[in-house]
Amino acid sequence: MTQAPNVSQVHCIKCGYNLTGVVIGGTCPECGAPINTSFLQANTQPSGFALAALVLGIVSIPTFLCYGVVGLICGILAIIFWRVSVVQTRNGTRSSAWQGLARAGMICGIIGIVLGLAMMIVFGVIIGNAIYRASYISVAVPPSTPYPPVPMQPQPAPNP
Ligand SMILES: [Zn+2]
Repeated sequence: MTQAPNVSQVHCIKCGYNLTGVVIGGTCPECGAPINTSFLQANTQPSGFALAALVLGIVSIPTFLCYGVVGLICGILAIIFWRVSVVQTRNGTRSSAWQGLARAGMICGIIGIVLGLAMMIVFGVIIGNAIYRASYISVAVPPSTPYPPVPMQPQPAPNP
């Protein structure tokens, strides 16, 4: 048995009785209307985390171009925020109005993470290769000696 969350003064949708502190799943002590219906009506505010998940998920896809790191971070945040919005909806503290958006954000976030990781691998290979080549050159090739100066050749006179 869980106590109703102490949200902003929920009242019975039928008779207006103050339902703060009553048991969720029960009925209104005054008129017998199901309490859950009143809470669903009261908590119509959608989750801000759902919207944040959507924005971050969308942002994570093009930002994988920023060496993959930005896309990776945005994608992970999108999944965390989606999860928070799911928990909020399950607890009944937020309505499920934006859950479709949150889910879309989570899916975009996964794409952003995959692209970001791929980008990091590509950059890792390029940088690793460059470091390998640089160290190879510095070890294997002795400091170059300057060529002896080439003596100036007399230029043939232009034909008149
Ligand atoms: Zn009532």
